[in-house]
Amino acid sequence: MTEAQKQNGRRIIVAIDGPAGAGKSTIARHLAERFGLLNLESGAMYRAFALKALRTGTSVGDGAALDALAQNTSIHLEPGKAGNSVFLDGEDVTALLRDAAVTEAASKVSVYPPIRARMVRLQQELGERGGVVMEGRDIGTVVFPKAEVKIFLDAAPEVRGLRRYEQMGQMGPAPVVVPAEEVVRELRLRDERDRNRADSPLKAADDAVILDSTNLTLEEVVNEAERIVKEKLTGL
Ligand code: C5P
Repeated sequence: MTEAQKQNGRRIIVAIDGPAGAGKSTIARHLAERFGLLNLESGAMYRAFALKALRTGTSVGDGAALDALAQNTSIHLEPGKAGNSVFLDGEDVTALLRDAAVTEAASKVSVYPPIRARMVRLQQELGERGGVVMEGRDIGTVVFPKAEVKIFLDAAPEVRGLRRYEQMGQMGPAPVVVPAEEVVRELRLRDERDRNRADSPLKAADDAVILDSTNLTLEEVVNEAERIVKEKLTGL
């Protein structure tokens, strides 16, 4: 049995929550590799559903219409080493999900309780046998409140915005056309929406370890996250 397994044979769940741009995906990927876990990005599901809303011309402000749409939508997440593949109604839409319009729409559709309920159910099905690291906003509070390890990854908004801006510059052949201030501004808006929604707002679970990466290098954050997981595992 590996160190990522509990004595009763059920494998552990690592929940990583936090605001956009805090580095959740990078840390989740490292932890998944280090501890032999599947890496699942819950945000990709909201993004896929947002894409469907955009494609069908469904208003992202109309909860009832979105609920009806969700009943005719299938979303499937496939974990992989380099990241998740996401299938929307059977089509691989992975490459389309980082688009700015999709990002904005995902933030808006995710405030609706019926949409969240569906996504949470899918996420719970994916993780029910354990052996996963899942990142999102409500994993430690709602999706897996009994997760063995919970990390809330945070960083100052300016730092998160700049990191995101730099990431955008490294993505694809197209140059970044959005100014850095605009990236920071949009990130703050998404944050506020996540933190202030009535249903499962973004917040640290009471038993989460808070890891603030504002003044840490990537290597330091990775090491600290590994230490947190190891410490939790020895206590199981
Ligand atoms: O993490 P990512 O940026 O891909 O998530 C896209 C959007 O989905 C976020 O802006 C957030 O509003 C929403 N989300 C959520 N709950 C999650 C994961 C993502 O509300 N567990």
